[in-house]
This record gives sequence, structure tokens and C-alpha cells, in this order.
Amino acid sequence: MPPLGQATPEAPCYLNGEYLPLSQARISPLDRGFLYADGVYELIPIFARRPFRLDAHLDRLQRSLDGIRLPNPHPRAAWVEIIRSLVDAAPWDNQSLYLQITRGAGTCRDMPFPEASSTTVFLFAAPLAEPSARQREAGLKAMTVADIRWGRCDLKTLALLPNVLARQAATEAGCDEAILLRDGYLSEGASSNIFIVQNGIILAPPKDHHMLPGTTYDVVLELAAQHGVPHQIRAISEAEMRTADELWRTSSSKGVLAITTLDGHPVGRGENAGKPGPLMRRMHAWYDDFLNDEIRRNPLP
Ligand code: PMP
Repeated sequence: MPPLGQATPEAPCYLNGEYLPLSQARISPLDRGFLYADGVYELIPIFARRPFRLDAHLDRLQRSLDGIRLPNPHPRAAWVEIIRSLVDAAPWDNQSLYLQITRGAGTCRDMPFPEASSTTVFLFAAPLAEPSARQREAGLKAMTVADIRWGRCDLKTLALLPNVLARQAATEAGCDEAILLRDGYLSEGASSNIFIVQNGIILAPPKDHHMLPGTTYDVVLELAAQHGVPHQIRAISEAEMRTADELWRTSSSKGVLAITTLDGHPVGRGENAGKPGPLMRRMHAWYDDFLNDEIRRNPLP
């Protein structure tokens, strides 16, 4: 790894076998990731220089690669080595490690897979954007948006334009997240999974083709099971979401957060209306303990 600027730390990056500062990385304009969004990605949060559920992220990467018929360019041990090198090179303890694989560049712009192309493998580390104290204590504002994405939202592909447009609409409306609805049912957030709480029961939509199976989604259900909180996995209608006692957003970089305003209306009722609910407050404590425990237990192999 070449020395990286000390005064203004620059993101370390890996591109096709080389470690270099992000500003020096170059790819071909014929790269199919650029032309067709023909590729997949992962975002692995690093807490105290330890990756969050690395196996779950690398398993999902493999499922995404299989889903778009792209051979995995590296065995798992090589991925771990690349990730370790980047994490060590970056100056931050908490990082967001982005990993992208595309079908590379052919000799011209043509849709069928090129006969000879090598994959483009790109990773870079950045400081982790953690939720603010306000977001944790007061909860988030969300708005609903029609889910206009394709039929394989379970794959983490580069084709994020509908998510980008949804998040932009949310940002312009002063919201933190967009919640995607398809045919009257909840899919997920533009960059998160969504849970509701109804009469003390945690409800989560099933892992089908309409949502990305989140690593944090699994953690939340594991914690619910460990702490004896009733939970069900089933389709959640828009009406159920709008009348839920609590609404939660999960993602590995921001953890579990309450959504307390939905389309301008307070979530929940009575004294909890518009505030993180009682189950969220318990889940925050369980999740913090889990994260501390996970960090202690899981150094890079
Ligand atoms: N759905 C979408 C569309 C996402 O982008 C993310 C963030 N990766 C998630 C769900 C949550 O996944 P995870 O818990 O693994 O961060």
C-alpha cells in the first residue's frame, strides 16, 4: 500500500489488484458497470476496525453474483485479505467499506456478455456516516413513494436509479428516508428494511424478490427471538403501516432507527405519537449490546 496523504486523509481504494488513493483510480468508459449498471455491490460497515457480519455480506455478494451470472473473481480468503488491507490503510476506526464488481469492459458497446472481458473489482473505504443523536432520540421523517423497481430487488445490483430518485424526492420533502410501496404493500426503504410494531408484535415483510435481505433485518429478528418478543414475517399492507404503533428502519451502517413521522403524520398514538416507541427503546439497548459484543468477538480472521 503506498503512503496516503497524512494531512488530508484520502480514501484508500483497491482497483483490480492495485492499492491506490481514490483520486488516482481509473476505469474504462466501456466498463459495463458504467454503460449498463451490469454489476453488483456491497457496503460493509467497519466498527472499531472490525467488519459487521462479514460472512453475511460476502454470502449476499455471492447470491447477487449468481443472480446476474457473474463468476466470483476471488475466493473468500482473498476478499478478506483485500478488506483487511483497506481497513488497515484507512485512518478511521469506523468505516464504510464499499465493494463493487462489474462485468468489465468489452471491446465495444454490445449487450450480450463479451466473450473476453475481465471483471472490474473496486473497493474503497470512507468514514462511516453514523446516525446523529437527533435521529436516534427523535426518530426519522419518511415519505412513501411508489416502488417502480425491477423484479429482482433481492439482488444488490448497481441499478439504483429508482432508489436514487426516491431518496432525492424524500430529501426535497425534508425527509430522511423514502418507503417504497408496491401494489398496496410495503417493500422496504430506499436504502433500508422496514419493520412495523402492532400491539406489541414486530412484523417484518418476507424476504422475497421485492426487497433486499438485510443483514440488520436478520439481527433484529434474532434479537427479538432472544428477548422473547413476539414477531411475525408476513406481507404488510400500506394500511397496516399507516396505523402501526411503531415504524422502524434498519441498515447495517445506521443500525435500528425509529421512523416517527410518515408523510407528515406522527407515527403511533397517545403519549408515544411522533416519538420512538417503547419497543424501539428496548431494541436500541439490545442492538447496542449486540454491536459491542459483535465487535469484541469478530476481528478479521
Ligand atoms: N434494502 C436496501 C435497498 C438497501 O440498500 C439496504 C442497505 N444495504 C438494506 C435494505 C439493508 O441492508 P443491510 O441491513 O444489510 O444494511
